[in-house]
Amino acid sequence: MNNTQQATDKVKKRISLTGKTVYIPGMDYAATRLFCAMFKAFDVNAIPNIRSDAKTIELGSKYTSGEECLPEKITIGDFMKVVLAPGFDPEKNVFFMPLSNGPCRFGQYAPYFTHILKKHGYGNVQVLSPSGEDGYGSFAEKDSNSLLRTAWTALVTADILRKTLHKIRPYEKMSGTTDKVFERALERLEYILSRKDYSTMKKHRAVVSALADINKEFMSIPADFTKTKPLIGVVGEIFCRLNEFSNSNLIRHVEEHGGECWLSDMCEWIWYTNYEEKKNLAYAGRTVSLAMLIAKIKHYIQYTDEHRLYNVFKNEFVGYEEAPGAAVGLMELAAPYFDKYTVIGESILSVGKAIHVYNKGGDGIIDISPFSCMNGIVSEAVYPLVSKDHEDFPIKSMYFDGNSSAAIERDLPIFMEMARGYMKRKNIQRTYPWYFNRH
Ligand code: SF4
Repeated sequence: MNNTQQATDKVKKRISLTGKTVYIPGMDYAATRLFCAMFKAFDVNAIPNIRSDAKTIELGSKYTSGEECLPEKITIGDFMKVVLAPGFDPEKNVFFMPLSNGPCRFGQYAPYFTHILKKHGYGNVQVLSPSGEDGYGSFAEKDSNSLLRTAWTALVTADILRKTLHKIRPYEKMSGTTDKVFERALERLEYILSRKDYSTMKKHRAVVSALADINKEFMSIPADFTKTKPLIGVVGEIFCRLNEFSNSNLIRHVEEHGGECWLSDMCEWIWYTNYEEKKNLAYAGRTVSLAMLIAKIKHYIQYTDEHRLYNVFKNEFVGYEEAPGAAVGLMELAAPYFDKYTVIGESILSVGKAIHVYNKGGDGIIDISPFSCMNGIVSEAVYPLVSKDHEDFPIKSMYFDGNSSAAIERDLPIFMEMARGYMKRKNIQRTYPWYFNRH
């Protein structure tokens, strides 16, 4: 048994959080902020670890072996900044690292961090790794169902806000206006999600109502909606595509080069894991079982909650509809290139989303991956064929290692020219939402 395996056994699934501060890894800026606000309603002081910088990479490199993927290096680097800060008290602070059983290195984050802490003399620092199996009981001892449902509201809302930001910002007349509206929206939603006096449904309804105002505010931003900007789908590994620090702010660079981005959502992955849950129950001969019934009820509630939130933006998201059936729809699109029973994970979703963006009249795809991550390597292998089968649709894989943005500086201008060329010759035209025709 190696050191990391030993540490796996010591990862804590339950820690009393009373009077303590919990640090949450900042995979996505908006989702992490809303997630932490939601915990406050359950008397948990959660802090979003969203300020990655050069020190993050320095410490991430120092405390890892060099073989880890970029998301792991960034998460550990950010946590070590907190551990090494003057006055850090291991009794009063806890680090949140989710566990997973998947084949990728993600499943090793929590035990590996525990191992690193011990090796460097910080064995008393607490790492909390709750799992869905225990209903995240550490966070909400009394009402974990309420916590899980509100977490879903928070994640869907973060997806909607991020999508809206990316749709409006490339067209704004005054630089920075859309970012300001986005920040104000986040603050308002944080306040709602942190309220202790609201029931789960009251909170959900308050978010829906706030989103209606937020939508109006985004729509009132002075902007020049021209139909000349190429629409670029951004797909790839979930942490690297959502975490701006990891991908060197790729989306802002695409915007500076005159493009608009359609970034794959965070919830796409949740829908995929829901599909896997049902598939695994069926494989285990439990198609008719209590577990399957519970899974179906949970997915139905998630679907109706998501629909209510998205419905606020139904006119503004015309032309940006996701594939029918979410992750399942993407897997069907990717089916000619992968066997959906043997290839699992983000590769199949990325390829499916690339074809979906093509079908919606998009102008190109950028696949973002951390350097050496298997998902990006697998999808890159089939992209030439996908492109050939779809009018030579431009698709570019970009790898990030946290140290350079060479891929952006060198490759992005060329890729954007290819996207502009494709835009002129494509056979499938975009459907634009109403505000592109406003005067
Ligand atoms: S998918 Fe790749 S980059 Fe992401 S956690 Fe797994 S191994 Fe790391």
